[in-house]
Amino acid sequence: LVAGVADFDFFYLVQQWPGSFCDTQTGCCFPDTGKPAPEFGIHGLWPNYAKCRAAGPELVEDVAMVVDGTTAAVDAVERRQKCWPENCDDRNPLKPWEIKDLVAELDANWPTLSCKSGRSMEFWSYEWKKHGTCSGMGQHEYFAAALELKKRHSLAAILADAGVVPSDNESYFLSSIRDAIAGATGAVPNLECNRDASGETQLFQVYQCVDRSAKKLVDCQLPMQGKCRDRVKLPTF
Ligand code: 5GP
Ligand code: 5GP
Repeated sequence: LVAGVADFDFFYLVQQWPGSFCDTQTGCCFPDTGKPAPEFGIHGLWPNYAKCRAAGPELVEDVAMVVDGTTAAVDAVERRQKCWPENCDDRNPLKPWEIKDLVAELDANWPTLSCKSGRSMEFWSYEWKKHGTCSGMGQHEYFAAALELKKRHSLAAILADAGVVPSDNESYFLSSIRDAIAGATGAVPNLECNRDASGETQLFQVYQCVDRSAKKLVDCQLPMQGKCRDRVKLPTF
């Protein structure tokens, strides 16, 4: 067994709001399959450790030790605690034919918005290599699991039911967004925000916590410094 494989506590199913990916200073590009629907799209299904509260793959337990001197710094580095496993098997790249029957669904639900290439397959390959190889699942199983989880709830519909509709001038209470998703899915999510080109805070990604079997949504236990404010926007797409 490769170190790190299947050694984790829960998954994050991360979905991105395309309006908030596209209206930043960097902008976005549509995939070769065309403009995605105005729905949240999958970013990834990420194995995570429960013990870690930092927002990075690695947490230096005692930062004071690092600034303290060379020997101490080495000790501190050795005591680095991983927040999540990644890149668990370099010899297991995504093989497109393994997920051939899922491509249409993936194009609709997991589209790339990056301008690096119009090919969503490259985004899926990247996510498989970085996160999927740590999931303990096979390639087909991993992508099918992410699609199944996403299909269970439409985040855009949940927000619309709570009166949170995409708008270029309205802003919404972050708590009402969290409550709406928790109420409809039965599990408290984490929320991440970013800034639009004029610096306004907007909902960017929703992190839903999923048990190790990748089947059951659970409350997210780790608070996340998601760069949100009390009120956030949800831009149109
Ligand atoms: P960012 O710095 O944009 O928040 O995250 C960059 C990348 O780090 C993400 O695309 C993802 O691959 C990884 N990452 C960020 N936060 C988490 C997390 O909480 N868990 C896991 N497993 N990966 C994360
Ligand atoms: P992460 O490391 O955050 O899991 O993955 C982000 C990487 O995937 C970045 O290198 C980014 O260029 C690429 N990528 C391709 N398409 C997308 C997309 O639609 N959204 C995000 N967040 N990253 C994308």
